[in-house]
Amino acid sequence: MDSACFINEKQIFELLEANNKPDHHQIEDILAKAEAKRGLSLEETAILLSIQGEDQLNKLYQTAKKIKDEIYGNRVVIFAPLYVTNECANVCEYCGFRADNTDLHRRTLTKDELQLETQILTATGHKRLLLVYGEHPKFTPQWIAESIEAVYETGDNKNKIRRINVNTAPMDVSGFKIIKEAAIGTYQCFQETYHRSTYEKVHLKGMKKDYLYRLYTHHRANQAGIDDTGLGVLFGLYDWKFEILALLQHSFDLEKEFGVGPHTISFPRIEPALNAPLSECPPSLVTDNDLKKIIAVVRLAIPYSGIILTTREQAEFRKEVLELGVSQISAGSRTYPGAYKDEKENKRDMQQFTIGDTRSLDDTIKDIIQQGFLPSFCTSCYRKGRTGHTFMEYAKPGDIHKFCQPNAVFTLLEYLLDYASPETKELGLKRIQSETSNCGIFNHIISDMYNRALAGERDLML
Ligand code: SAM
Ligand code: SF4
Repeated sequence: MDSACFINEKQIFELLEANNKPDHHQIEDILAKAEAKRGLSLEETAILLSIQGEDQLNKLYQTAKKIKDEIYGNRVVIFAPLYVTNECANVCEYCGFRADNTDLHRRTLTKDELQLETQILTATGHKRLLLVYGEHPKFTPQWIAESIEAVYETGDNKNKIRRINVNTAPMDVSGFKIIKEAAIGTYQCFQETYHRSTYEKVHLKGMKKDYLYRLYTHHRANQAGIDDTGLGVLFGLYDWKFEILALLQHSFDLEKEFGVGPHTISFPRIEPALNAPLSECPPSLVTDNDLKKIIAVVRLAIPYSGIILTTREQAEFRKEVLELGVSQISAGSRTYPGAYKDEKENKRDMQQFTIGDTRSLDDTIKDIIQQGFLPSFCTSCYRKGRTGHTFMEYAKPGDIHKFCQPNAVFTLLEYLLDYASPETKELGLKRIQSETSNCGIFNHIISDMYNRALAGERDLML
């Protein structure tokens, strides 16, 4: 192991080996401890990852659901990805954007095209975007910051993106300072695999080959003042149990160094991609049942980090895991630059990978409501300065509900009044009614704001 590296592979393998047949008392004790929402140690997590029997799995799922309900209530945050460019200088064996894929039609959106994509998304009701970029030296931090600004300045008070998260190549500290100035929400970067020799095998060319530079990306972002960062693993490359313990080591190190762990965690599984050999037959398959277990265990181990599940996954599966701890989902997504303008057509020779959940935003919202959840387009926390450490100070004692629940209601109400189909609107208004009548935090200030939103005022938030 590199002396500077916080990933301790030897420790992970030993923990997995020593805890692969946990007894049922150990499991019960850990599940009981997890209910205190203080997270789990590496060893405890290794034990839960080895749960096999149906009874114990059900107990794990019940505990995850309880924790999810206590921390996030029934809210589900909604966003859409917007691909700015599919040009890339790297060769990642699993990705359709890899530099040596000569069949891929390359495109980088101009400012006008980017603003058109933004307008199309805001016209459907989106308020939060994830901007996605290939990695190329010509996409400097300044260039990325300008693209972020172009999106923020599109539209009016009603049809506007209010929070932009970014998924872009790692930068140095000065680069991160530049994109922080452009008012990004969360900075996301996935390690793909924490297993170093696998990492080196699947990243063949380009800047991304450097395992350690990528591993310390979130440290540099924090040093630059970006305190909402997102971690992720691309499942399919290496053993998922190893990846989860390594992700925990990453989270613990961020917590140790900066006092705050990841704001979000993403769990993409490799999807089919054009001319990407590893996407045809990923070497370490993660089944639906594995992913359910992963989501439940991570909900217990790192309770205050949002868990993101994208439209890579099928609609039915996404519905199931909402119960276990997923707190943010993308909806109505497309995965290439200019894709929203194409609308009916999907250009396979431009996209990064194939999408599993092709429902529209409106259908997704309707389904979420029918499932008993409360879709939220809220962007308040980072705009009100509740990020990083400050966010955790509200989240840990449960105070965040006082903001999130009303903000979810205000933003859903806006969606229903301005964008929803009649059926979704009717269902949504009923859900809002039951939320407001059952919830003690709707005092007169909030009722007043609610009435102002009903009367047409927009972007109200606590
Ligand atoms: N180029 C930047 C990078 O690699 O970090 C950011 C954008 S990249 C398009 C975002 C993420 O897509 C990657 O981190 C990877 O986890 C994921 N990805 C790549 N190929 C994929 C595939 N075939 N299926 C699912 N996800 C994939
Ligand atoms: Fe490029 Fe990112 Fe795709 Fe790798 S995963 S080929 S860096 S876009």
